[in-house]
Formats: sequence, structure tokens, C-alpha cells
Amino acid sequence: MRLNILNRLLVVPTRKACNIRGLAERPRVRFAPSPTGYLHLGGLRTALYNYLFAKSQNGVFILRIEDTDQTRKVEGSVDALINDLEWAGIEYHEGPGKNTECGPYIQSERLPIYQEHIAELLKNGSAYKCFCTERRLNVLRRDAVKSQRIPKYDNKCRSLSEQEIKDKINAGIPYCIRFKLTSECQTFEDMIFGGIAYDVSMNEGDPVLMKSDGFPTYHFANVVDDHLMAITHVLRGVEWQISTTKHLLIYKAFGWTPPRFGHLPLIVNADGTKLSKRQSDVKVEDYKTKGIYSLALVNYITLSGGGFDHVPGAGVRIKSMEDLAQEFQIDRISSRPSRLNPDLLEECNRLEIKRQLQDEQLSKQLSSKLEKLIVEKYPEQNKNVTEEHIKSVLNWATARVTRIEDLTSSEFGFLWILPSNAPTNFDRDLLIKLIESLGEMERFDQEYLKDRLREFSSSNNVKFPVLMKTLRSVLSGLKEGPGVAEMMSLLGKAQSLDRIKAVIR
Ligand code: GLU
Repeated sequence: MRLNILNRLLVVPTRKACNIRGLAERPRVRFAPSPTGYLHLGGLRTALYNYLFAKSQNGVFILRIEDTDQTRKVEGSVDALINDLEWAGIEYHEGPGKNTECGPYIQSERLPIYQEHIAELLKNGSAYKCFCTERRLNVLRRDAVKSQRIPKYDNKCRSLSEQEIKDKINAGIPYCIRFKLTSECQTFEDMIFGGIAYDVSMNEGDPVLMKSDGFPTYHFANVVDDHLMAITHVLRGVEWQISTTKHLLIYKAFGWTPPRFGHLPLIVNADGTKLSKRQSDVKVEDYKTKGIYSLALVNYITLSGGGFDHVPGAGVRIKSMEDLAQEFQIDRISSRPSRLNPDLLEECNRLEIKRQLQDEQLSKQLSSKLEKLIVEKYPEQNKNVTEEHIKSVLNWATARVTRIEDLTSSEFGFLWILPSNAPTNFDRDLLIKLIESLGEMERFDQEYLKDRLREFSSSNNVKFPVLMKTLRSVLSGLKEGPGVAEMMSLLGKAQSLDRIKAVIR
């Protein structure tokens, strides 16, 4: 059943939705988050894959805000979401602030559209008014649980007569509108999972399409909008797969051609356990504040679960959005849960810093970011914090740290400030001689220094490890850390000499 998926992906069904000429000729996809909190890793992946799909097919990527459940709405989350997408480099063509004839793109601003469409379903007999109270529904639920049946609505109001309905309306009884589920096994070809078959009516009663507050439910608004916005491919999380068969019945009731569906597998931890939204590290915002670069995060996401050219174990490379779009193929996405490997995130970030350092503009930005962090953390930093020093530390850092922030940790504090705990117990004459010898050196790179320090120790009859221990402590105040020659070359000749002179003064 999975054969020829790719060929069929490119055939876009024509439909009569928003009156934009040629609209149906380009694939149209959407990311449709509910503004119930922050953007998490799963949401970012859905947005990214839709974006890449659109990009690879010269298609259109739409952002639609699904805020019909007003009780779950979190103030400020739409703006935060848009910021996160922008930060990640995922740009939408249509959506809030980018209106076209298909808008508005915020569902709470589309209520008249849903009213109009629910009237159509009521008229053609696919939907009906339901006056059941919350209390009755609770009793049904409780009874079902007690007798170990699947709790589902018993479709009681389906059989109300015209007169009964009129009387209830006249009596001011609130009602919702439900969809008449037909009992048939609905099948569809999932672009990722292959053939899916499910009989919705076996497991649930007639679903609500319109709530008594006049707001549509997710299922109804989602179908109406996907149709009216001429969506051709729906790529969303696997948690929605079971709802798709229900959606297909709604499409049928309207006489509409449904889009193609592909469900992205669950994202799980490296050990296969479920990621919890409560774990703060799945929040995109947190990656950002922890010093992870957007392209590193984006590449990290693409490393698990397939869809790209990545060969497991073949090493990581940072790819641009353009490259990722070119490689992206839906039918190469695995239906198995995508296991995250946090080590790869560190590696991606390290490689991203390296990539940025090779770009003049980006490398300037890195330098000023680091300078700002140093000033914040070490207000007492000395004159050693020059542009040149920052640059050489950054170049050195790509082999050592995965975040710029790490460079201001106490381990690397010696790079920016004079050690506060320099030794008092040392061989003064030896250090005077060393100052002389270092002062004469024309080169000050690590390799050269290593050899000269060895020579110095043997010609002055001091054990090399003893000399190194003293020097490390003089230069950094630390007992451990980078090699002494490495430290000296990083600090530079003038700063290294200043630090030795400072202790013998
Ligand atoms: N509003 C749904 C969500 O929050 C969207 C599901 C879909 O893409 O259809 O994930």
C-alpha cells in the first residue's frame, strides 16, 4: 500500500477553496498549533517538516492558529510561537500578519465561516442538534466505566423529532451540534505509515462539531479550514492519526476531496521513553536561552527519524535550510518513534559555532556576544579582553566547548581575569629566568612553547612536571585545565609574561 507514494504526492487535487488563481497548482501545507503554551520540540519538528516540504516543492507554508478551545488558551503564546518560528528560520508565507484571501488565519476570527458550514451539514442531514446535559453525559460515562464498556455518547438526540427540537429551543435549552458518524471502516494511505483503517463509530459516539458557546471543535474547524485554505498535504503528529478517519467522514459529508495525510512519529528519549512537555528541555525557548543555535537545533531534529540523507554513525554536518529542503523526502521518514540523542545536539552546536566563525558577519556577532557575556560575568576583567584575544579563544573553543556561554564558566575564567589565588610559594629566581627566556621568543604557539618549556626545565635542573604545575597555577590559579603551553598561547605573550611578573613582584 506504500507503493508510489512519491508519485502521488506530487499530484495535487483541485478544489474550490479560496479564490486565488492557480492556488491548487502549488502544494499547500500548514502548521496549525493551538496556543496553549510554548512551542516544544515536537511542534518545532512539525513546523519544520511542513516548511521544508513546501520549500522543496515550490509550495506554500501556512501558519494557522487553532484557538477554538478558549479555555486552554494561554495569553501571549501566539507571539511567543511566532518568535520561536522566526528564530528557527521557519518563515511562513500566509498566516497571522500575512493575510491573503484565505485568511483570517486565527480560528477565533473565523466563527461566521464555521456557522455557515455547520448550517450546511445540518441541512444535508449529516449533523444534528444535541440537547444532552453535561450531567447526562457524565452518567453515561460513569455507567460505561462501571460495566467496562468504552465510554461513548449514545447518540440519543439523533432521533429527536422536528417538534421536540423546536420545543427545546423555545425553552432556551442550550445545545451543541454533533456529527452523525456512519459505521464504516474508513481507510486512507498515510504518507508515512502506509495503509490505515479504522471504524470511528466502534469507539466513540457522534462527535461534537459545534459547542454550545458557538465555537467549533478542533475536528470541525480543522477540516473546514484545511479545505478552505486549499491545503493539499497535512503533515502532523501521529497523535492525530486516529482523528484522521473522523476527518475523512466530515470531508465526505461536505462532498469535498480530502488532502493527503502523513503523520510524524512520536519523538522519544534516547532510551525510548516518552518526552514529557513538562520537561523543560523540550521547550524551544529553553534551547535558545541555553545557547543552542537555531540551525544546530534544526539539524539535530532532522538527525532522528529519517527523511534526510543522514547515515547513522557517519558523522554530523550542519546543513542549511536549502540543503535540508533539497534532501527532504516524506517517504523516507520512518514510522518508528524518533529517538533523540542529546550528544548529537552538543555536536551540532559545536559545528554550528565553527560554521559561524568562518563567516565574517556571523563571527563578529559571536565575538560581541562573548564580549557581552564576559563583561556581565567578570566586571573586573582586565585589559586582556581584546577583540583579538576573543577571536583566538573562539577559534580554539570549537574543539573544546559546545556553547559560547561555557567560555565564561569558572573553568575558563582565567582567560578573562587575573587569577585571584596565584601561588606564594615558588622559586623566584627560576621565574625571573623564565621571563627572560619567554621574552626572547619570536613565536608563541603551542607546539613551539611546549619544546621550549621542556628545554628550559632541563637546562635549569627543574623537573618538567614541577615547572608545569607552578606555571599553571601562576597563569590560571587552577590545578587542572588546558595544557600549559596551550594556555600560554591562548593568553598571548604579553599577558603570559604579565601574569608571571605579577606573582614575583
Ligand atoms: N491544533 C492541533 C495541534 O495543536 C493541530 C493538529 C493538526 O495539525 O491537525 O496540534
